Amino acid sequence: FRHGEPSEVIVSTPSGSVPFGRNHPVVLIAGPCSVENEEMIVETAMRVKAAGAQFLRGGAYKPRTSPYAFQGHGESALGLLAAAREASGLGIITEVMDAADLEKIAEVADIIQVGARNMQNFALLKKVGAQEKPVLLKRGMSATIEEWLMAAEYILAAGNPNVILCERGIRTFDRDYTRNTLDLAVLPVLHSLTHLPVTIDPSHGTGKSEYVPAMSMAAIAAGADALMIEVHPNPAKALSDGPQSLTPERFDRLVQELSVIGKAV
Ligand code: PEP
Ligand code: MN
Repeated sequence: FRHGEPSEVIVSTPSGSVPFGRNHPVVLIAGPCSVENEEMIVETAMRVKAAGAQFLRGGAYKPRTSPYAFQGHGESALGLLAAAREASGLGIITEVMDAADLEKIAEVADIIQVGARNMQNFALLKKVGAQEKPVLLKRGMSATIEEWLMAAEYILAAGNPNVILCERGIRTFDRDYTRNTLDLAVLPVLHSLTHLPVTIDPSHGTGKSEYVPAMSMAAIAAGADALMIEVHPNPAKALSDGPQSLTPERFDRLVQELSVIGKAV
């Protein structure tokens, strides 16, 4: 995976195209872990848009450790994402877990997410590679950088050049304090190994909202092309990942803090 120039991934959104890449401002993706209902997703969309985000994230199909945990609202949540897209003008990013859902997800999503647990689901990688929407490929929780890049290669080889990598933390031995170990060293490493843009997810990377601002700053300082941050209007009541979700107010303040460093948002 040697490369020449850094590539840019240009994503169409209802408000115009948004470029991801080394020569562009940091892209902000924000929103709840899961789409819970219309009111919360539209409200979150409007709040993160006002703060400066270009994309709304929100899970319809959720990969949960326990089969008894909330699994996402599925297809009906896709309709709610479409409503939030329409109301806010934000691009939408949401996860595909099953290739059978890909077509209907691609109708509302501007970027298709492949989650950590599916990073080496090669059948799924080939399917997202054979469609046209850009793909955000999260790092598997114990994946090496080479395994991750080879997974990206599956998508590229299937014909889709628009791949964005996303570091979300790797399995940690220190779970009392952080959910994962956010590996920010991937930024300089990937910048030397690949032309693909790199997103950092400090929310899953730490598991605790109070650590998200510091790791967001560090990510930008180390050269992140985008940040993906969980934001929920009422984190204490969230159906998933409340402890790592920022309130809209805190997200707004974070964006202002980030704008003082480097490749400003
Ligand atoms: C997510 O972004 O909603 C998610 C489930 O993340 P990961 O695949 O990194 O665990
Ligand atoms: Mn989550």
